[in-house]
Amino acid sequence: MLTESDSSVMIQDMNLSEIERRIEAIQHRLIHLGPMHPGSLGEQYNVCGKAACRCKDPKKPQKHGPYYQLSYTWRGKSTTRFVRPERVDGMQRKVANYKRFRELVNEWVDLEVEREKAERAQEKHAGGN
Ligand SMILES: [Zn+2]
Repeated sequence: MLTESDSSVMIQDMNLSEIERRIEAIQHRLIHLGPMHPGSLGEQYNVCGKAACRCKDPKKPQKHGPYYQLSYTWRGKSTTRFVRPERVDGMQRKVANYKRFRELVNEWVDLEVEREKAERAQEKHAGGN
């Protein structure tokens, strides 16, 4: 996968029609992205309150879990909550889609900045100022 700086170096060598084609490709991918959710999933193992539980075995403690937690900040509000095991796969896909969404939007904005430059360069060539 390209880093942000790699992709902006590549964009700088594009002409106007290449930039526009790339933007259309990004728009197409955004439409087909599917369900998404901000945040990241973490695994957690717990110790319980029972006195002689396996999670407190002095030699080989086996903690309870994994429990999955989703953490995200949206519109200034931070949220962390548990995700049921049967929902973890689906949530992983949503989180991956959201990450992809942000990458595509960033790339789109990079391209719009370059489109503006290319348009100005073209007008200059056409005899403007
Ligand atoms: Zn326990």
